[in-house]
Amino acid sequence: MRYAILSDIHANLEALEAVLGEIEHLGVDRVFCLGDVVGYNADPNACVRLLMEKGIPSLMGNHDAAACGLEEPDAFNPVARAAVLWTRGALHEECRRFLRNQPLRIELPGGICMVHGSLLHRDHYLMARSDVMMNLDRMGAADPPIRLLFFGHTHVQAAFDDAALPCGPPPAELVLERARRYLVNPGSVGQPRDGNPSAAFLVYDDEIDTVRFARCSYDLRSCADKILSAGLPERLAARLYSGC
Ligand code: ZN
Repeated sequence: MRYAILSDIHANLEALEAVLGEIEHLGVDRVFCLGDVVGYNADPNACVRLLMEKGIPSLMGNHDAAACGLEEPDAFNPVARAAVLWTRGALHEECRRFLRNQPLRIELPGGICMVHGSLLHRDHYLMARSDVMMNLDRMGAADPPIRLLFFGHTHVQAAFDDAALPCGPPPAELVLERARRYLVNPGSVGQPRDGNPSAAFLVYDDEIDTVRFARCSYDLRSCADKILSAGLPERLAARLYSGC
């Protein structure tokens, strides 16, 4: 089975459509989203509808929770807060309902688990070695144990092995060892923050046990123009071009 894993779409319809087109071309069996479908960019309803139409399960992200009114964006920075409040006003009822009903975790057979931030907390940024180690402890203690954890939230593609050391990317294709545990981040579809403006995602093949990190160019100008026309903060358009 081949899985495409997306995360942090953030209402970027152009990037989502480009990634879904690429995924169709690659011929994957199932698609999952690790959350933050909305926030920052200007197409929240169209992005949620596309996930609904395609039957793509998604997790609850911090922007999703604030946009659908389950939480207040008290911990958000001013730009993120302005965008999430704009999104709250723009969301249609059916889209709000979809976001409200997203789970915090998806588990698949074979010890695969998906979360938005980390196993410690939905909003936890999993980057530092100490954080990876704490998550590895949780993975080992889970019943059944988690062998492969997919996480998002940082908007940066990453992979760590069970020594809590980075093991990708690069290479673009990571061959997993059966007896080891891994934590893998597909990066962000709608607002990459690693200096590369292309939309990021990954494909996991559970038969040959490989993770393939992928990038996909999209009509960035169209998305940026919509941000400006919607009256969202200019910084949100500028950061799409710089990819950080
Ligand atoms: Zn995000």
